[in-house]
Parts: sequence; structure tokens; C-alpha cells
Amino acid sequence: MRRTCKERVNGHGGVRRGLAWCLLALAWLLADVAFAGAPVRTRGPDYIVSGAPASDPFPGRTCDAAALAALDRHIELPPPPGGWSGVPQAVNVFNVFAGEVMVHYGDRQVCGRMHDARTRDSRFRAGVGMVLVPRAGDTEPVRVAWAQPLKTGWIPTVRIGAPSPVQQIDTARLLVRTACLAVALALAVTALMGFLSARDSVFLGYTVLCVGTILWQAVLSGLAGYPEPWLPIGDNEWRWVAALSCIGLSLASLVMWLLVGGARRWPRSRRGLSVGVAVFWLAGLAAAVWLPLPALAVVIGGVDEAFALACLVILALGLHMLWQGWMGALAGIAAVLPFLVMAALDRTGNLLLIEYRVEAMQLAITWFLIVSAYALNQRLGRLRRRREEMQLLAATDALTGLTNRRAGLRRLEGRVAEALATGMPLSVGFVDIDLFKSINDVHGHETGDRVLVAVARALAASVRDAADVIRMGGEEFLVLLPGVAGQAARERMETLRGRVTAATAALGVAGLRVTASIGLASLEDGEDARTLLRRADEAMYRAKRAGRDRVADADGAPPGG
Ligand code: GH3
Ligand code: MG
Ligand code: MG
Repeated sequence: MRRTCKERVNGHGGVRRGLAWCLLALAWLLADVAFAGAPVRTRGPDYIVSGAPASDPFPGRTCDAAALAALDRHIELPPPPGGWSGVPQAVNVFNVFAGEVMVHYGDRQVCGRMHDARTRDSRFRAGVGMVLVPRAGDTEPVRVAWAQPLKTGWIPTVRIGAPSPVQQIDTARLLVRTACLAVALALAVTALMGFLSARDSVFLGYTVLCVGTILWQAVLSGLAGYPEPWLPIGDNEWRWVAALSCIGLSLASLVMWLLVGGARRWPRSRRGLSVGVAVFWLAGLAAAVWLPLPALAVVIGGVDEAFALACLVILALGLHMLWQGWMGALAGIAAVLPFLVMAALDRTGNLLLIEYRVEAMQLAITWFLIVSAYALNQRLGRLRRRREEMQLLAATDALTGLTNRRAGLRRLEGRVAEALATGMPLSVGFVDIDLFKSINDVHGHETGDRVLVAVARALAASVRDAADVIRMGGEEFLVLLPGVAGQAARERMETLRGRVTAATAALGVAGLRVTASIGLASLEDGEDARTLLRRADEAMYRAKRAGRDRVADADGAPPGG
């Protein structure tokens, strides 16, 4: 039998610990963002001044000798023929995948890193930039330098032009990057809430995935430094990106494998793949911590290639599953397609992709998270349906389909509370089939079962809500009659008694005549369910003693046959 969700959670002490870690990580991210570089504010009568006058021309970031020494690629942007026109120029550098960037003109020089975007000379945030006003006629070029990118395929891109358009594009980039981050954050919170309500560890796994991609995207896109460095990773962004790539891409591959139905097709692959991913994580982390940078570059390149290959395999499996008629594979195919398109464009040296690589990756990751959230939502629906089915099963008698004893007693308590609260009457009839044992003995157990089913149907059809008929056990039933008391209740019970006999006669079993003894009790002021039930039970025994096939009233009226 399948374990219930609760059992599954209790069986995984690690899930609770995972949840605690997740919450801690989220709190840390939020606290970092909230408190990093909080500005000074002063309040006037009807205005507020935020911040403080700067004393350092490039606060927090100057091109020190160590930074400049690390730059091994230099280019010069020459002025147009005849020299600079004298209008402002914006220079923006991006896609320098980890490492220093320097922009220099005249006596102005800014340095920065993509991961922390620490240059304050301009409002460029998705890249490192500077707005300069070259003297008219001057012929000194703008110098740009960077460190050798860690990844092949990351081609540093420099944009120069009038400040507004250049900065607009930079702002658009920033918008895409922050929006992707915001979506991942929202999905993480939603998944966490899903976990809290469904107690299903898959939701927790998804939350971890989201938090992981938030970190990854933050480092990859320079947002870890917006508006101030909030990830204290110093000069180690290469290692962070390497580690997060290993973790993120292997986990994403596993999720997409599951989405296209890999575990459905090869049920045993799930465990093997999970172990594989864990090994990959450890190896990736170890490599990221200990490997020298050139070797790290090879590892990162290898991870990218492996991921592209995994995407191809996942697509092939998805198409196979579709071919087999499993439409669920569509989600996985949808998730993997953007990554495959990116890999294909990469191999053709597509300039647009090179220029907007970070945005493309973030959009692909966000799309993947959204598709996974959709699949997760489907899962939540399935879990909910299964839980409802289980609740229904737990409350239903298997043979007759009536409310069973446990659920029935709860229902009786509910009806009693309702009646006491509203002042409406409530009557209950304790129905016991007469000499049922001999029916079994004479006609066989199977006929006995058919009799029970026929009686159950007859009783259920005689009340407004079939759930008010409860199989208390064996051949005993309890009928709840809310809103009915006195003579009306007695008449209803007499009708039920007649229907029991009629319904079982309709079974057409030769020599079978079924009767029932019914004990009737109506709720008295301040009475509880247990006492009411006991009075009905005692009345039923009085009906038995008086000769069976009759209704006995707990109020003491003589049993009528
Ligand atoms: P009385 O008139 O005094 O109630 O006599 P009785 O034979 O109906 O009562 P008793 O409690 O002696 O017997 C109840 C019988 O019901 C015994 C048991 O085998 C039978 N029984 C209980 N559950 C089932 C069931 O699910 N199917 C069938 N066929 N018989 C059942
Ligand atoms: Mg009995
Ligand atoms: Mg009986």
C-alpha cells in the first residue's frame, strides 16, 4: 500500500531539516538585500533627503594595481575621423564572464566586476559602464580592458553611443534580469507554501531548485551586486558560478528527465539518476573549491557540453513518450526546448545570442521553472484528489457503501451539536435485522451480503442525505433524522421497517423474509450523542424482547408491531 503524505514526511526527518535550511537561505538572501548599504535619510518639513555627499570619486571601487594587473585583453575605441565631436558618449561593457573590467578615457577610469557591478560612474548595472564627454577634436581613444573570460563562447561585448539609447538597452537588460529573479523568488515562496499544505517533499525539492537558480542567476547576471554587493563572494565569482552550474544544470537535467516521463519509462532510473546528480554535485563542488582556474574553465565547458547532450537525450525521450501516447511529456519537451535552441544558436556563433547570453539563459531557466511549477501544480491536484479519495474510503463501509461506524459517530455528534445549537429536533433509529444469523445459515453468506446491501439501499433512499444512514456493524444500522421528532419520527421508522421487508423481498430469494427491529430515540435537552445512541440501542432491544419486527420508542411508548 502507498504511504500517506504524512507518513512520507515523518519517514524523512531530512525533509524537515531541508525546510529549515531553505527558510534560513531565503531569510539570508532577503536580509542581505534589505540591509546592504541602507542609505542615510533626513526629513525636512515637506521633503526627504536620502544619502550623503560622496567623498570618493568612485566609492568602493578604484582601479588598484592588482586589479589592473589582472587585465590581459585590451582594446581601443578610436574616435570617428576628425576626432570626437564633443557630445557625451556612453561606453558599456558586458558578457565579461567573471573578472575585472576597466574603462578608461583621459583622467577618468572605472573598474568593476560583472558579479558586483561596483562601478558608480554611471547607472549601468547589467554591465560595467561610463559616460564620458570627450573634448571636441580630441583623438585619444577610449580604452577598455578585461580579464580573459572563464568560458569559451562568452565574448565580451562593448557598446558605445549616445548615453540614452545605450543606457536604455542596459536598463532593459537589467529589467529582464531582475524580472527573472523575481519570478524565481515568487515560485520559491509558492512552492514552499505548497509544501506546507501538501507535505510532499517534491515541493521542498522544487523550492531548493528555485533558491539555487536565484543564487546562480544573481551571480551570473551581476545582480548579486545591485545596487550594492549583497553576496559576499569577494573575488571568487568564478568558483561560485562553477559550483552553481554543476548543481543547477545537473538538477535541471534530472527534473526535465522526470518531466518527460523518464521515471515512468524506466522506474528504476530515478534512484540511479538521483545518486548520479549527488555525485555530480560533490565533484562539481570539489572542483570549484580546489581546481586551478584553467582547469575550472575546462570543467565548466564540460558541464555545458554535458548539459546540451542531456537536453538532446531528454528531448528524444520526450518525443518517444509522446509517440507512446503519454501527453504528459509535453511539459518536459517545452522545458527543454529553449536550452536546445540556445545550444544550437551557440554552435552557429549567433551574434544576438552572444550579446544577450545572460538574458537568454535567464529566460530559459525561468521558463523551465514555470513549466516545472505547472507540473507541480498538476501533482498538487493529484495529491488532493488522492487524499479526498482516501478520506472517502476511510469513512465508507466497503460492503454497503454507507457511512461507516467511525465516520458515522462523528456525523451523529455533528447532528447533535447542530440540533442543540439551533433548537431543531433530532431523532435516531437503531435498525437491527432480525435473526440475521439464521438468514446466513439457511441461505448462505452471499445471500446475507445481498440482504445487507438491499437494506442499506432501502434505508439510504428513505432519507434526504444518504450519509445520514450509518452501518454500525454486522446487520445494525443507524438512521439520523434531523428536524424530525414525535409522531412524525415514529411514522418514518414504521415506513423504514416496511421498506426493509419490501426491498429484501424484491431480491427474489425463495423462502426469504427479512424483518427488522428498530429502536427510536429523540434528542432531549442537553443530551449528548453517546446517551442518545444508548437510548436508541436499548429501545431496539426492547423491540426484540417484545417479539421483533417492530419499532420501540425510547420514551416508553409500547413497541408496536
Ligand atoms: P437478532 O434478531 O437477535 O438480532 O439475531 P441476529 O441473528 O440478527 O443477531 P446476531 O448478532 O446473533 O447475528 C448477527 C450475524 O450477522 C452474525 C454474523 O455472522 C452476521 N454478519 C455480520 N456481518 C456480516 C456481513 O458482513 N455479512 C454477512 N453475510 N453476515 C454478517
Ligand atoms: Mg445485532
Ligand atoms: Mg440481528
